[in-house]
Order: sequence, then C-alpha cells, then structure tokens
Amino acid sequence: MIFDSYEAYRAANFTPKVCILGSGPAGMTIARKLGAAGIPVVVMEAGPREFSDESQDFYRGSTVGDFYFDLDITRLRL
Ligand SMILES: Cc1cc2nc3c(=O)[nH]c(=O)nc-3n(C[C@H](O)[C@H](O)[C@H](O)COP(=O)(O)OP(=O)(O)OC[C@H]3O[C@@H](n4cnc5c(N)ncnc54)[C@H](O)[C@@H]3O)c2cc1C
Repeated sequence: MIFDSYEAYRAANFTPKVCILGSGPAGMTIARKLGAAGIPVVVMEAGPREFSDESQDFYRGSTVGDFYFDLDITRLRL
C-alpha cells in the first residue's frame, strides 16, 4: 500500500516493526525480504513519484579528493 502523506499513513494504523528510509534498490530489496518473512515494514521515501528539480536540488554538493561527477547527477531523489 502506498500513502502519499504522513497523515494518510497515520490514519491507516499500520504498526511496522522496521522502518526503512529510501525506496531505492537497497531499501526496496530489504523491504521485500522482510515482507516475505512476515515482518511488517514501512518504507519512507523523501522524493516525489516523478523527477523534480525541487527535490533533486537537495542532492547538490561537492566532492573532494579523487574526481567524481556532480552529486546531483549521480543520484536521483525520487
Ligand atoms: C542517471 C543514473 C543512471 C544510472 N544507471 C545505472 C545503470 O545503468 N546500472 C546500474 O547498475 N546502476 C545505475 N545507476 C546507479 C544506481 O541507480 C545506484 O547504484 C542505485 O540506485 C543505488 O541504490 P540505493 O538504494 O543505495 O540508493 P538510491 O537509489 O539513491 O535510493 C535512495 C533513496 O532514498 C531516498 N532518500 C534520500 N534521502 C532520504 C531521506 N532523508 N528520507 C527518505 N528517503 C530519502 C531517495 O529519494 C532515493 O529514492 C545509475 C544512477 C543514476 C543517477
């Protein structure tokens, strides 16, 4: 089940045992494994359903040391 707001999530009275932050491949893989094992899990995702510049701006940052690409193009916040 997907809730589009924290209020909607609270109203559902779902009581997870585990909370995962971020619905990327890592978070979703763990959530699916836990769910398959019968462990109630909630995934909290900060980004929107579709790409947006406003959300992506949170990923702006610089790197030091070895060269790496800009942080806001090597990660997607959605
Ligand atoms: C443009 C692009 C192309 C790519 N192409 C490939 C490819 O072809 N093949 C390949 O193997 N890999 C590719 N990658 C790399 C791949 O996407 C990453 O390795 C993978 O997404 C990392 O997974 P992750 O779950 O660790 O993190 P992410 O996928 O970064 O997931 C993190 C999630 O957490 C959310 N989040 C962040 N902060 C918070 C917060 N405070 N609270 C809640 N949620 C939060 C983010 O919105 C995001 O959904 C590509 C990456 C990019 C950016």
